[in-house]
Amino acid sequence: MNILPNYINGEWQTSTTTEELEVINPATTELLAKVPLSPATVVNQAAFCAAEAFINWRRTPATQRVQHLFLLKYLLEENLEDIARTITLECGKTLAESRGEMRRAIENVEIACGIPMMMQGRNLEDVARGIDEIMIRQPLGVCAAICPFNFPGMIPFWFLPYALACGNTYIVKPSEKVPLTMHKIFELLSEACFPKGVVNLVHGAKPTVDAILENPQIKAISFVGSTPVAKYIYSWGASNGKRVQCQGGAKNPIIVLPDADLEMTTRIAADSAFGCAGQRCLAASIAVTVGEAKQSFTEAIATTAIDRVVGNGLDEGVEMGTVISSQSKTRIEQLIEKGVESGANLLVDGRNPNIPGYEQGYFIRPTILQDVNPLSEVANTEIFGPVLSLIHVDNIDEAISLVNNSQFGNMACLFTRSGAAARKFRYEAEAGNIGINIGVAAPMAFFPFSGWKQSFFGDLHGQGSHAVEFFTQTKVVVERWKDEWSRKF
Ligand code: NAD
Repeated sequence: MNILPNYINGEWQTSTTTEELEVINPATTELLAKVPLSPATVVNQAAFCAAEAFINWRRTPATQRVQHLFLLKYLLEENLEDIARTITLECGKTLAESRGEMRRAIENVEIACGIPMMMQGRNLEDVARGIDEIMIRQPLGVCAAICPFNFPGMIPFWFLPYALACGNTYIVKPSEKVPLTMHKIFELLSEACFPKGVVNLVHGAKPTVDAILENPQIKAISFVGSTPVAKYIYSWGASNGKRVQCQGGAKNPIIVLPDADLEMTTRIAADSAFGCAGQRCLAASIAVTVGEAKQSFTEAIATTAIDRVVGNGLDEGVEMGTVISSQSKTRIEQLIEKGVESGANLLVDGRNPNIPGYEQGYFIRPTILQDVNPLSEVANTEIFGPVLSLIHVDNIDEAISLVNNSQFGNMACLFTRSGAAARKFRYEAEAGNIGINIGVAAPMAFFPFSGWKQSFFGDLHGQGSHAVEFFTQTKVVVERWKDEWSRKF
């Protein structure tokens, strides 16, 4: 089996390293490819080529730079189905989820095509008599993305199109667990005729990341992944003088008030908790029922969880696929057990399911733990699997306190028909992405992906105008031109 090549300076480069990992289809456990664990020399070569390419790319007018993105958008649309199948093959989610993921990726390309408007600076004449002040935005240089496994097609696009449109050059380091999707996308990036060295793909794991952190030619890093790694990259990257934005882990609560529309709330909550097998950073992990919502919601969500069709994401009618690896499956099952040991009632047990035809696959069915102690490990640890913990409280203030006591702040949602309750929640909840009668409050490409607390380290988030600010540095020019210096016309 061939080892996946890197893409550096406009060419596919066969890896010379002997260190590699297997890429496994989590539904069938079939070996799909091998991914090289690129050493520092490869990162340094990519950074050198990207730095060379930057000299001309930043001088290319913004209106011309976006022509490559228009072409990329067309190529992504044309190849959406093929890329979606690849995501499902290596990541295990359903084909519908993979298609949705690529739609979100494409939206970011579309928004970045507006860079000739978005990158503009501002100015003011006569800040003092006869003196004008101008603020312009200039690109940073070589930038890099370090990406997680759960959205291999979408997450690099929170950054890459904006970075390129602003005149930077770029290196993507995909998750070593799911490198095939970016391989496919880089085939399209090479067709989009970017000049050599403007976009580069380097595969690898921790040593590759460490080389990115150490390389002085790389000026900015965008990271998405777990909180411990986010902290590590944020602190080391910053101490090396880089601009860094790190989106971390999550533990997202949804609150169900007694007046919520039960049918809609249950359907949306189930999709949030069990969609993508709970491996979204915006997955609901805790459902907090308030007052009389307890009994009706508990019964309804249990039925929905039991009925969910689980299987190979490529198969018709499947509503939930696998988790990413056997290690992940074991870790999730151990956390379920810990929940039971801490006193929770295992209302729906999704461990050890029988999925005919896929007996070796990394499947866990939807699982519900009831009466979870808010102080227990299971209530405070990111599970990243299809496990929903139910907690009951008496009123909305207690529910909001639960939200605000969490170390994470990626998302919090409220289900209600009350405008006043919705406003109170929006005002008081300490999370960066808020859903009101929404279960996955994923910001569109023209809004920032706003995590808070341990879910985000930095100032500027991915997507939209935040990305434009992140990928540019401001320069202020204060000018005086005396009349008497000029020839009179
Ligand atoms: P991860 O942190 O294990 O890996 C992310 C990236 O970091 C990978 O490219 C990996 O190669 C690299 N990496 C891993 N360990 C490293 C180390 N010790 N040193 C340097 N680099 C290292 O995350 P994952 O398991 O791939 O993804 C799941 C996590 O990502 C979850 O915690 C999820 O909540 C989070 N996530 C967050 C968001 C968000 O927007 N906040 C979005 C998606 C995923």
